[in-house]
Parts: sequence; C-alpha cells; structure tokens
Amino acid sequence: MKVCELWREKPVTLSFEAFPPKRDDDFDSVRFAVEQIAELKPDFMSVTYGGGGSSAYTAEIARIVQAGHGVPALAHLTCVSSNRDRIHQELEHLRSAGIENILALRGDYPAGYDPAAPRDYRYAADLVREIKAYGGFCIGAACYPEGHTECRSQEEDLLHLKEKVDCGVDFLTTQMFFDNSALYSFLFRAQRVGIDLPVLAGIMPVTNAAQMTRILSLSGTTLPTRFRMILDKFRDRPDAMKQAGIVYAAEQIVDLVANGVRGIHVYTMNKPDVAARLRDNLSEVLGR
Ligand code: FAD
Repeated sequence: MKVCELWREKPVTLSFEAFPPKRDDDFDSVRFAVEQIAELKPDFMSVTYGGGGSSAYTAEIARIVQAGHGVPALAHLTCVSSNRDRIHQELEHLRSAGIENILALRGDYPAGYDPAAPRDYRYAADLVREIKAYGGFCIGAACYPEGHTECRSQEEDLLHLKEKVDCGVDFLTTQMFFDNSALYSFLFRAQRVGIDLPVLAGIMPVTNAAQMTRILSLSGTTLPTRFRMILDKFRDRPDAMKQAGIVYAAEQIVDLVANGVRGIHVYTMNKPDVAARLRDNLSEVLGR
C-alpha cells in the first residue's frame, strides 16, 4: 500500500522508524526487534538506509515488515554517495521486494567529499526527480523545523525544501524536535511558501541521556530548558530516564494531535518496549 493513501482515510497516522543491522551478525537480533515493533501494527514503518550509501539490509527488513506483518513499509534511500546506475538497481530491488514507498534523502557527505566534483546527485531533490521519472513509488522527503545544519538561514532552507517538494514529494517527515512550538512555527512558514502536504512530526523518546548528547550535536536540534532539566536530573538513573523520556514524548504527541498534525513518526531506536508503551498510553488520543 502507498502510504500517501493513508491520509485520505485517517485524521492522524502513527508510524515507527527502525534501522537495519549494520553487521551480518546482528541480523537475527535486529529482525526480532523489528518484528516485535511491526506486531504493534503501526500505520506504516520506515527502515533507514546506512550512512555512506550502504544499503545491505534496508530492502530485506522492509520486505519482512510488509510481507510478514502486513505493515506498509517505507524504505529510506540516500543518493549523495551513489550514481544513476546504482540508484536504478536500488529502485529495481525495492520494486521486486514489493516496496511502494521511498523516503528520498541526500544523505550526509562522506569523509573527503569534494563538492566541486561532477556527480549524478547533489541534493535530495535530484533523487526525488529520478524516482518520479522511474515511476510507481509514493515519495517522502525530510524536513527540518529548526533548519538543516548546513544551511545559512531557515528561510533559505525553506526555499530549498519548496524546490524539493515541487519535484514530486508526497509527504514530509521532520527531523526530531523537543519543542512543539518549533514545529508550529515551521508549519506556518511552510504554508506561506506554498508547501501544502502532510508533514509527519518526528518524535524521539529519549531513553538514554549519553546517546542523546551525540545525536543532538549532529542534528542541530535544540533542547528546551524543561527537557534539559529532565536530562540533567535522570541521566545517571537509566530506568527513571527511560520513564521520563517516554512521558515527555507522550506529552509532545498529545499536544501535536490536539493541534491537528497529520502524522506522528516515532524514532523507536529499535526498542519494541518503548514503541509499545507510547502506543498503549496514546491509544485513544491516536484513535486506535
Ligand atoms: P537535502 O534536501 O538535499 O538538503 C541538504 C542541504 O542542502 C540543506 O541544507 C538544504 O537547504 C541544502 N540545499 C538543498 N537544495 C539546495 C540547492 N539547490 N542549493 C543549495 N543548497 C541546497 N541519513 C541517512 O544516511 N540515512 C537515513 O535513512 C536517513 N533518514 C533520515 C530521515 C529523516 C526523517 C531525516 C530528517 C533525516 C534522515 N537522514 C538519513 C539524514 C539526512 O540524510 C541528512 O540530514 C542530510 O544531511 C540531508 O539530507 P536531505 O535529504 O534533507 O538533503
């Protein structure tokens, strides 16, 4: 099923992100976790694509989610380390695995990347164009409520986002954020430049304070004082941190749904218990 059809019938969707194994040895444990998450029956699940353009298990995990559990899968695909032949192979591979949804991404620059060198894909918009021309996929793309880290200003980032959307994007998923007002401000500005498609709010339940420090430095996401106090208070008590992180994410989601967002996309970090607790705590709020 194409995920863009979901918004015709559902006021708000719930989706979970999973990541594929990085090494062959991890395949069984990752598969086990992902299957448990799929059994929670989200509206769809996304499966990330390895940094540096490595794809080893994305299509396979997406196929398991979809064929084995009846949950539509959204496969991430990055382009900055690829060429046209390789992207066509990936599209063929996804199509033969029955995948109908792709999150089209540029990916982060690999070490030693030369921006001046000729290449088939420079931005995610180039990949969106390619997938659109290939045909048959519902296409999502990433957006950044607080601006992408490389961009000089939020306004410039928004204009690039508009160009990307106009290449044929069907929906957007946001970078994680911890202050809902950042999303509301972004949605307002996006509408003003004519971006009018479903925007899924990316929510990260923080269950491990140390891991969070690294993720925040890479993503450029800001921490509101209220959340910083929680991290400071519970960082050395893992069970309390996990509980507080799930409650904080749940509160964010309640507020987002009350304000009319079209979808909640949870960065599960492959933790079925965290996904289950959120889904169960919010079953009525999310109309499930
Ligand atoms: P783009 O949309 O190409 O934007 C990148 C930068 O280029 C922005 O600063 C933008 O303003 C600028 N730009 C765009 N067009 C132009 C132009 N014409 N001229 C000048 N500047 C321009 N990474 C992975 O490796 N694997 C994943 O699975 C993955 N999943 C993700 C899922 C989500 C929801 C998000 C938010 C991010 C994900 N990422 C993933 C990270 C992503 O690859 C990086 O954030 C990357 O740096 C940017 O990707 P993009 O698709 O947003 O790029």
